[in-house]
Amino acid sequence: METISYADFSAKFDSGSSIKRIPMYGMFEVTRRCPLKCAHCYNNLPLNDREALHDELTLDEHCHILDELTDAGCLWLTYTGGEIFARKDFLDIYTHAKKKGLLVSLFTNGTLLTPEIADYLAQWPPYVIEITLYGRTRETHEQVTGVPGSYEKCMEGIRLLRERNLPLRLKTMALTINEHEIGLLRSFVEDELGVEFRFDPMITPRLDYSQNPLDLRLPPQRVLELDFEDTKRKLEWEKFAGRLNSCSPLQRANNEIYYCKAGIKGFGIDPYGGLNLCLFSPDGKYDLRKGSFREGWEGAVLRERNRNITRQTKCMECMIRDLCGMCPPNSELEKEDPEEPIDFYCEVAHLRAQAFGIPVKPHGECKYCTPGQKADTRHGHVSVPFGDGVNPSPSWRG
Ligand code: SF4
Ligand code: SF4
Repeated sequence: METISYADFSAKFDSGSSIKRIPMYGMFEVTRRCPLKCAHCYNNLPLNDREALHDELTLDEHCHILDELTDAGCLWLTYTGGEIFARKDFLDIYTHAKKKGLLVSLFTNGTLLTPEIADYLAQWPPYVIEITLYGRTRETHEQVTGVPGSYEKCMEGIRLLRERNLPLRLKTMALTINEHEIGLLRSFVEDELGVEFRFDPMITPRLDYSQNPLDLRLPPQRVLELDFEDTKRKLEWEKFAGRLNSCSPLQRANNEIYYCKAGIKGFGIDPYGGLNLCLFSPDGKYDLRKGSFREGWEGAVLRERNRNITRQTKCMECMIRDLCGMCPPNSELEKEDPEEPIDFYCEVAHLRAQAFGIPVKPHGECKYCTPGQKADTRHGHVSVPFGDGVNPSPSWRG
């Protein structure tokens, strides 16, 4: 029998689905309830929030939606929260997804994992399970989570999964609170535990438009330093820069406001059955309790995806858009305007561009294009004169 690597299969599947607009990748928030109170969190609610408990999709509704989205062509599904195990019936939902043949990823904070849950996952292994650890020390982790005892519980969750050889990855958000421990975390996770690690410094506002999480954003220069302190991450950026430099930068094919794959092959579903092209899109949701997944995908999601720009911004001609995490939902949440550029993202993208040697062509009035800007070399990292570089940015959003 002819075999094919996972990477080849995934690339083949991916290229075909873009042309046909197939909803291959889904992010499903099963709940926004969570036992933790992370300072940067964009969506958490108290564990026993009565309204949320009342409004969340039932197990039957979850199963029905899973039947519909697999019929529509979904293959990869990520369950996220809040905290997924805050739902007592999460393993029932998960089992149905597995039985439908989905490749399921699980995002969790690890604190509610028990030996029984870990045993069950060993029997029905996920594609990957990702735990977020916020610090190498208890103090730092709990300064982020706001809950005493959460560090021990998280470490115990990690232990339970490792003991069973489950496909575990660890990650963190890089915040003003824990940035001094990112390096320690990385060596602990990679060298001591032998587990893959990544971090994400791109903090967003809350889905209710609260800007509080932004207080914890690192200065753009520090984001770049962290990129360089992580050898693997730096290498990925360098490869990305090479790809960007070897082909003509993507130009917006038309006037559509979105330029990622959301709504073409990706979608997001909130805990109450709201379907949209992305979990971060606050508006235009389609209610899966009132109609089918296919109707939503072909109707509301497509309409949102086809939304056109209403004005020219510096982003329209920007050649380093692929380095920039700026996207309409982020701008909507931070600027209440899906087309308004966000300074933080813009500055990080330009700093990375300089550091990794990607040319930034003029793209309108942009203060981060000021000639003479240089990446900081204080920490002994590579510095590339302005104009020599740009940079890549895999999305680490967890
Ligand atoms: S663990 Fe995740 S969902 Fe819970 S509060 Fe922290 S960031 Fe939010
Ligand atoms: S780098 Fe700046 S101009 Fe370019 S897409 Fe991002 S925000 Fe827009």
